[in-house]
Amino acid sequence: MVIFSNLRVWDIQKREFVKRDLDFQKDETTIKTSDTKIDASELIAIPPLVDIHVHFREPGYEYKENILSGSEAAFSSGIFTVLDMPNTNPITDSVATILQKKELAQRQNYVHVLVASALTEKNFSNLEEIEKHADAYKVFMSESFGNLSISYETLEKSLAKLEDLESRKPIFFHAEDPEILEQSKSYSSHNRRRPPEAEASAIQQVLSWALDFPELKFHITHISSGLSLRILEISKHENVTLDTCPRYIYLNQTSEIEEKLKQVNPPLRNSIDSAMLLKSLATGLIDMVSSDHSPHTLEEKLEKSVSGMPGVQELVPSILSLINKMEIEWDRVIESLYEFPSALLNLPKIDLSQNMIVLNMSDPIEITKNWVKSKANWSPFENQMFVGQMLYAVKEGKIVFENGNYLNRK
Ligand SMILES: [Zn+2]
Repeated sequence: MVIFSNLRVWDIQKREFVKRDLDFQKDETTIKTSDTKIDASELIAIPPLVDIHVHFREPGYEYKENILSGSEAAFSSGIFTVLDMPNTNPITDSVATILQKKELAQRQNYVHVLVASALTEKNFSNLEEIEKHADAYKVFMSESFGNLSISYETLEKSLAKLEDLESRKPIFFHAEDPEILEQSKSYSSHNRRRPPEAEASAIQQVLSWALDFPELKFHITHISSGLSLRILEISKHENVTLDTCPRYIYLNQTSEIEEKLKQVNPPLRNSIDSAMLLKSLATGLIDMVSSDHSPHTLEEKLEKSVSGMPGVQELVPSILSLINKMEIEWDRVIESLYEFPSALLNLPKIDLSQNMIVLNMSDPIEITKNWVKSKANWSPFENQMFVGQMLYAVKEGKIVFENGNYLNRK
């Protein structure tokens, strides 16, 4: 048993911390350890968190990451649920590929893995069946060829179909306008080939679909630029939600990181964009945060020009650190990493007295390669100091994680 005294626990109704004495059994199947008494007056407990955008690369790219390694990285920082994106091999765009990924996810018990299906040119005719199994949808607006592509014409038919089916599954948009990317492709630098105008234009397109299909849930993910925020400030509809990622808040084109490691879509912008994104997250124009954990090995990043960076393990501590810097309030952190993602993904209500994570908000965490659990084995946040180490995790009334050790690994 673990006995906490004077633990400050987030009260979801009161929207503040309240002091509690709590005790939980440990979830130990083999070794029984003795009771632990903890003076928890310096610790806090909050709901288990959700990452609405990860690429765990399985099936197909297991050398970059797999569901086990990605899930362990997510769980170690307090995330109990993730939404995995469909650009695996095979692409997740059918009942069979959704079920295959869900079965792969059963081999670990760190996190609950939800599965997004791509909306593509070819799966339009199977949406009725896909709707029964997908947890969300993903639209890659900027993929103008290949298996992930969808024409606006087919997409509009797919949206109409989903509205007929009364779908409440969120539709995620990677918003970059393929025409603007095409016009910009001769520039030599990656960020000039993918200018903020491409994101802004695509967002305007999504907003117009959101007006046309008022019953559907539109989610614009990984917003990167201040220009997009200017548009959203005046025209974000009720059925549209937004997220940004810590990389756009903490990093920009001038950050002292190897140029090739910075490459990501949409690209890192400048420090003014970062400041606007942080402010919009703090005030709630941006509803949520996600990691867009998109790992590649260091060799791939340095030798080929591949876009994407890891971040699932950094998501929670990077955002919690903003609290200590007085950049954001607890209320918004709980909303953006728990309440709004749970609502977006239609997660069943959980008993928060039996499910929580216990965090240390004072001791610094230095981000190093050694700290990273992802198979990518590097972090764009290396040398940053964060806070918010998870010391305990309580799942369904039992302690499943204690000081770095998972007690009931599958
Ligand atoms: Zn992504």
